[in-house]
Amino acid sequence: MDTPDGDGGQSTVFRSLDEEIRRRRTFAIISHPDAGKTTLTEKLLLYGGAIHMAGSIKSRKATRYATSDWMEIERQRGISVTSSALQFEFDGFSINLLDTPGHKDFSEDTYRTLEAADSVIMLLDGAKGIEPQTLKLFEVARLRNLPIVTFINKVDRESLPPLTLLSEIEKNLSIRALPRNWPIGMGRTFRGVFDLVERKAHLYVAQDHGSARSEEEVTDISDSRFSSILSGIGIEDEFWEEVDLLDSDLGLWDQEAFRKGHITPVFFGSALNNFGVELFLKAFLRLSPSPGAHMSDTGPINPETPQFSGFIFKIQANMDPQHRDRFAFLRVCSGQFRKGMTAKNVNTGQEVRLSKTLQFMGQRREAVDVAYPGDIIGLHDPGIFHIGDTLTEKGDFVYEGIPHFSPEFFVRVQIEDPLKRKHLRKGLLQIAEEGAIQMFTLDPEGERDVLVGAVGQLQFEVLKFRLEHEYKVRAKLEPMNYDRVRWITGPLDLISNLSSTLDTLLVFDREKSPVALFRNEWALRYVVEKYPSLGFHGTSPRT
Ligand code: GDP
Repeated sequence: MDTPDGDGGQSTVFRSLDEEIRRRRTFAIISHPDAGKTTLTEKLLLYGGAIHMAGSIKSRKATRYATSDWMEIERQRGISVTSSALQFEFDGFSINLLDTPGHKDFSEDTYRTLEAADSVIMLLDGAKGIEPQTLKLFEVARLRNLPIVTFINKVDRESLPPLTLLSEIEKNLSIRALPRNWPIGMGRTFRGVFDLVERKAHLYVAQDHGSARSEEEVTDISDSRFSSILSGIGIEDEFWEEVDLLDSDLGLWDQEAFRKGHITPVFFGSALNNFGVELFLKAFLRLSPSPGAHMSDTGPINPETPQFSGFIFKIQANMDPQHRDRFAFLRVCSGQFRKGMTAKNVNTGQEVRLSKTLQFMGQRREAVDVAYPGDIIGLHDPGIFHIGDTLTEKGDFVYEGIPHFSPEFFVRVQIEDPLKRKHLRKGLLQIAEEGAIQMFTLDPEGERDVLVGAVGQLQFEVLKFRLEHEYKVRAKLEPMNYDRVRWITGPLDLISNLSSTLDTLLVFDREKSPVALFRNEWALRYVVEKYPSLGFHGTSPRT
């Protein structure tokens, strides 16, 4: 178990690379919209001292709406479109919290974000149990064999019985659910949680919606006050019966099975009221792993390797419309990152000086001087990085695992004002480089119409909104009746035949590579059979 000596993250303390790695935790919260992810994130940051008063995330959201008005779309639809990484310190640990968007149309982004995580918090609404989006995101986490810690939220409201919630997790997710604490009452009778491992009752004192660190009283099970609370809410017999039942399960705990994602420890609490959050955070930090080796095309790279390396999993433009800047988010995988250092982008062969870098601490952006494996840093990107790029201080390897997706929806982009054509191209190109959409043209030189492909319809709404607000271009997106795409390799004269094939449209991607869009499975199969000497690829063979 990794429990470094805490110092609150003072930079004056010297630590070895190994110690820095051991105290790092990099994770994401997965949940269905409305389960309380924003609230929990806010409370975690509160404990980490990154914000002083819970509620700031909401106000951060509010200021962002004011300054970055495309975020309005989030507010209108009540969804989280962007994802970001926040860093904070707690209890001697240095924590990187990756935010994943909850909406299903943004699963691409989530896949990539989880690639940068070492573990996952699965957040459930106690009244709802496993919801569709939880299930989807869980499957992504499982694909990556990430350890999963479960937090069942909103137990201050009428919830499903805790034993029912456990069996629902086990049944729906085929993972063993082992509770580490147990709620004392539920809904209006909720009085706190019982730590099954430490055998202590944590009784909470309600506050102004948990806007500060919660006051809690920790009592021993033998404490008469505890039994009077249990009898006061009429659950004494039932509570001890359940605890007896759960005690027999405690012996089943197996750290290795947890690391492989076969067992999930379960915690109960209320993020809004700050019940059980600190207890959960402390346990989570001790259970979850520090950064491990990452797979590359030359084998696993250990984080202790002294030379810096990492990969880019997200690109985001115009985070601050005042500056119109673009950042590439990099997960550090080995060695020490130092501001101003030179690294090689192995994918492009380019040497790059990494001088303008940011980390996000609650509401603040801060310059990064040094970073270690597990850390997420934002690199200022003048258009030189791509999702999936590997940067190394030394060595020619490429990290594996950043998936690319085939778009399934296509639109033709039209503009009312032809003089805005340049703006349109620039906007589309920048947004395409973030990875949310893919841009195609009807001719290799890109002179004619522009088409856009995406994995979900919502991306088009975001695109339209961003074009209008960030690039001042009013565009009409006309749906096209194609639903599958293949990148084509082979002799050019054969490829050009595709332009006259029924239900098939020949287009070109940003790198001028030929791509075919098909109206249906039948059209795709026809072309594949007719042209055996052509190669058909679901994603660009160059990525
Ligand atoms: P997100 O969509 O997952 O980010 O969810 P939010 O954090 O925005 O929360 C959704 C709603 O649930 C909000 O109205 C919260 O105030 C409420 N909520 C969050 N946590 C709790 C909790 O522990 N108890 C109760 N009663 N409500 C909560």
